[in-house]
Amino acid sequence: MTTPSHLAANWSDIRRRVDEACRAAGRDPAGVAILPVSKTFGPELIREGVALGMRRFGENKVQEIRDKAPLLADCGIAWVMIGHLQTNKAKDVARLVSEVQSLDRLELAEALDRRLQHEGRAIDVLVQVKTSTEPSKYGLLPEQLASFLDTLRGYATLRVRGLMTLAIHSTDPVEVRGCFRRLRELRDRAIAQGHDIPRLSMGMSGDFPLAIAEGATEVRIGTAIFGSRPYPDAYYWPEPTAKP
Ligand SMILES: *Cc1c(COP(=O)(O)O)cnc(C)c1O
Repeated sequence: MTTPSHLAANWSDIRRRVDEACRAAGRDPAGVAILPVSKTFGPELIREGVALGMRRFGENKVQEIRDKAPLLADCGIAWVMIGHLQTNKAKDVARLVSEVQSLDRLELAEALDRRLQHEGRAIDVLVQVKTSTEPSKYGLLPEQLASFLDTLRGYATLRVRGLMTLAIHSTDPVEVRGCFRRLRELRDRAIAQGHDIPRLSMGMSGDFPLAIAEGATEVRIGTAIFGSRPYPDAYYWPEPTAKP
């Protein structure tokens, strides 16, 4: 468990490491934001984060946002969806989420657009692209991106701002960096085709320097800020009884 004092130290430490990676890559640190990823952590710790100046929080399950948002309603938090989204969750997303980074298919865009129209809201979205050949990763295939972006122009409630990816899970930095490079090249091509999508959300606690070297404008950091998750892929707050 990360204590509040650890959280403050982790937060300044990760900002320093991100700034270092920017300098190493010859980039301005102002061009790289940190998205704290609070999945599996409860509202008390998130509240500590708010006190330290965090405002956007990444989550990968709609149910967790549903549970946490009412308890943190006074904090002015912008919830960012970074996990795979089922179409039947569009209603809650439209109601609670300020941004979706995991838009990866037309069916989901349609569902979100319908619900957002109903709510009278528009949100920022990033298109998640599959940049590795790992079978487990969600995301649009790179060859589908151009036509997908063209189609998204038809949805006024979805403001497409950039691309997101998860790199291959590998100890080989060349492979990992290759994923980030592919995303940047896809972004550059889309910009050349007239799409205003400058943002690149890529890099996590274990690989963010490589992502920054390839042009990330935003890194999604969980472990390095909040500590390790006891059950990496399980939602355990507020019911910590679930065992993997
Ligand atoms: C959990 C998660 C992160 C953060 O991972 P850490 O290794 O804890 O920094 C980033 N992106 C996505 C999509 C995630 O699900």
